[in-house]
Amino acid sequence: MYNKTMPFLRGHHLVCLQFYRGEGYDRPFIDNLTDIIDRAETEGVFVVEGPDDVCRCCPYLKGTVCKYTEDSEEEIKEMDRRAMEFLAVKAGEKLHWSHVRERLPEIFGKWAELYCEGCHWRKACLKSPLYMKLKKGYTEHR
Ligand code: SF4
Repeated sequence: MYNKTMPFLRGHHLVCLQFYRGEGYDRPFIDNLTDIIDRAETEGVFVVEGPDDVCRCCPYLKGTVCKYTEDSEEEIKEMDRRAMEFLAVKAGEKLHWSHVRERLPEIFGKWAELYCEGCHWRKACLKSPLYMKLKKGYTEHR
């Protein structure tokens, strides 16, 4: 019998994957993401630093380095660091996927201001009902 395993996720993926709506770089990447979300929902997640189970199927991962843009490796690491700080989690911790979701209303404003405006995936997140709900709540309370 197949046992599902807990996916390994880096900091910023803990936040960004909450808004996943089936879009990605290519079919293997999308299929992998869908499987990760499915496992995260039932098994929880294990927080890691550096390349994770999402990066593993990404066409931009070269060795252990993110080459999405020239500067992406450092930018992504900073996003990971911030995400873990905002969520108050550390690498090596196991989390319920719902733990992250529950913290989103608290951290969304800071996260959106820092990262969402300039993100290439913004259009995908704007299709997420959860993202739009958080965005509305944040805008109304400014
Ligand atoms: S773009 Fe970079 S951080 Fe994002 S999945 Fe690909 S390798 Fe990982």
